[in-house]
Amino acid sequence: MSETFDVERVTADDERYGVLAASFNGRWSGAPEYVLLPKTADEAVAAVQHVLDRGVRFALQSSGACYEDLIVNPDIQVIISASQLNSVEYDAELSAFAVGPGVSTADLYQKLYDGWHVTVPAGIGPPVALGGQMTNAGYGPLSRQFGHLVDYLEAVEVVVADSDGKARKVVATRRADDPNRDLWWAHTGGGGGTYGLATKFWLRAPGATGAEPADQLPSAPRELIVSEVVWSWDQLTEDAFGKLLTTFTAWHEKHAGVDSPYVNLFSALKPRHISAGEFLMSSQIDAATPDADRLLDEFLAAMAEGAGITYRVDARKRVEWISHVTAWADLGGDGWEGKGRFKAKSAYLRTALPADQVAALYRNLTDPAFDNPATLVEIAGYGGHVNTVEAAETASPQRDSIIKMLYIVMWATPEEDAAQLAWLRRFYADVYAATGGVPGRGGANDGAVLNYTDTDPLDPALHTAPIPWQELYFGAALPRLREIKATWDPRGHFTHALAVRGDN
Ligand SMILES: Cc1cc2nc3c(=O)[nH]c(=O)nc-3n(C[C@H](O)[C@H](O)[C@H](O)COP(=O)(O)OP(=O)(O)OC[C@H]3O[C@@H](n4cnc5c(N)ncnc54)[C@H](O)[C@@H]3O)c2cc1C
Repeated sequence: MSETFDVERVTADDERYGVLAASFNGRWSGAPEYVLLPKTADEAVAAVQHVLDRGVRFALQSSGACYEDLIVNPDIQVIISASQLNSVEYDAELSAFAVGPGVSTADLYQKLYDGWHVTVPAGIGPPVALGGQMTNAGYGPLSRQFGHLVDYLEAVEVVVADSDGKARKVVATRRADDPNRDLWWAHTGGGGGTYGLATKFWLRAPGATGAEPADQLPSAPRELIVSEVVWSWDQLTEDAFGKLLTTFTAWHEKHAGVDSPYVNLFSALKPRHISAGEFLMSSQIDAATPDADRLLDEFLAAMAEGAGITYRVDARKRVEWISHVTAWADLGGDGWEGKGRFKAKSAYLRTALPADQVAALYRNLTDPAFDNPATLVEIAGYGGHVNTVEAAETASPQRDSIIKMLYIVMWATPEEDAAQLAWLRRFYADVYAATGGVPGRGGANDGAVLNYTDTDPLDPALHTAPIPWQELYFGAALPRLREIKATWDPRGHFTHALAVRGDN
């Protein structure tokens, strides 16, 4: 064991242990002997060397936001938390922003805004960290306008483990002549916790020019116009519900190109189970877009006209972007209170929703045998600048989708687990029945979203579709990811249930 090991370790008698060893999802618990808290990249090397020398089962974490028990589970003996690696600085040498994986989404936005008035198209969960968001291909409301978060990854510093069991740090960049380029590529969506411990990400817009820090990333919006409208189940016959979903997704198919005047508009339609009574459609547009108010009005009018019914307006206002994006955006409506256990499933959508998927959405969201309002299908706008990048350029090959779909159910107690899980699994299998119970590839769908982590496809009793789970998540990137894994982690030290392996 390394004699110079002095990385802070947090044990169960430390008040920080409860948070550091916990998952955001109340379904998961573990009892690691301790959590290691490296504060520098060299300490991160020492932490990895320590777990390799001890031969313990370990997991990497930045915030604990992972939906499944990849990190927080009874088998894990030591967690290495990157939460203290959370600085945001400008690196003049690389003309890029050097950012720690432990930075929360809220701090990332705030520091980039305060320091340089720039931003990246990351997600909207303020406490979620960059570590998993980057490596698992996160996205957010500015993705149609600015592209995929992973497209901004210029370089990454990673602690890897050699075949002789030695930990070392490596910098891998996207430069064509970089011998470590493959390792950079794997970090553009090839899965967190799989190739090594990321200790720093350098962020820079692809093709950025100019000498100033503010030239290296998109300018942050100053103001948004936000709209919250409510659709009431009282008015939603099967026909109107179907028309609403078809109109919303067909609109996104029509306006998926970067030449669309609506490319700066983001909207998410969020149907809930009928027991919730109503559901939201949340929309926003960068207020600096020419004719922003008119564009938003046209979008809203198109939805009402397509559905053949109208909505209730709950909010229409101009807000400061930075306040909006750093505040906690709740899930909308009532019925979520006290529900800390959850399950999520997902899909990429390439076309307007097919009729069979619309019918299954209606059937399950109006299921009279189910009565939990804490349910949501977030149908979120995607495409735009995301789809200007070739599939093979990054390890996020889903570059012709128009929508990301997140299915979620939340509940309070372990006694409810079986019924809640069964409902969501039945619902999802019904929507994707034509492709074996999971979203297929090449037709309306393009597999599932890695960042909306769902381990069901690992279970042969739940996953009977012809598509293997690895292809469901990684698609065309899989063969290259397997090679990179075999090269950079030959002994398979960095792993979890959903990790690519050299041989799986
Ligand atoms: C409230 C909430 C809101 C969300 N909103 C969005 C959103 O708007 N858009 C979106 O795309 N996603 C969103 N997500 C999903 C979220 O991005 C993923 O759960 C993400 O993987 C979390 O990353 P993390 O590092 O914070 O979590 P963690 O649980 O710490 O890690 C998640 C995964 O990444 C790995 N990992 C973490 N740190 C490192 C590291 N330093 N090096 C290598 N591997 C690492 C872990 O091993 C694990 O496999 C949201 C989640 C929540 C809970």
